[in-house]
Amino acid sequence: MASFLSAPNSEGRVMIEVRVVPVTPLQQNCTLLWCGKTRKAVVIDPGGDIERIHAAIGESNVAVERILLTHGHIDHVGAAVPLAEALAVPIEGPQREDGFLIEGAYLARQCAMFGLPPTAGFTPARWLDDGDEIRVGDETLRVIHAPGHTPGHVVYFHAGARLALVGDVLFAGSIGRTDFPRGDHPALVHAIRDRLFPLGDDVKFIPGHGPISTFGEERANNPYVGDGLR
Ligand SMILES: [Zn+2]
Repeated sequence: MASFLSAPNSEGRVMIEVRVVPVTPLQQNCTLLWCGKTRKAVVIDPGGDIERIHAAIGESNVAVERILLTHGHIDHVGAAVPLAEALAVPIEGPQREDGFLIEGAYLARQCAMFGLPPTAGFTPARWLDDGDEIRVGDETLRVIHAPGHTPGHVVYFHAGARLALVGDVLFAGSIGRTDFPRGDHPALVHAIRDRLFPLGDDVKFIPGHGPISTFGEERANNPYVGDGLR
């Protein structure tokens, strides 16, 4: 199943288009996102199943310029290095506090934990920080540091399209696990309530797993971070 989303602006011009490709046995939502005008693209969280990602790129007729990572868990980064090599593009993100997850032997341990083929550690071409901007053709994604699930987790936000790619920070009806190394539940709740929800109830988000929702829906009904908590 690959879902497709097109985000027109107020004049009806398509600013960005998105195609979600669930990958790995964990059905991680790898996302191909491109500028509707130039068809320049990014791949966010290529966790595995590289042939399916290549197929989505080919079918969408887009030119990938970089790979973006939300955080260092194996189901989000597993195919990053081979895809970067095949496309001759850089890997950018996450924030450098996730370095311990991807730079060394810990990545192989993650593979063993989830029964995935072993992957060598790597260092992204660029670590990202809160407030950084990523150009995608004529469009811009803003980087928001949202620690808690992992310490260096980042979210990508397109203000005009009202769309956020939140990785494993927030899900429809749930939030990210915090029982992995350096997980921090209070930090995660703070990131969601004080950094993501203020972006607006109308913002749609693509989570790392499961269906798309909106911040407004989660504020109203999410049992972990909804307004009913306070
Ligand atoms: Zn994760």
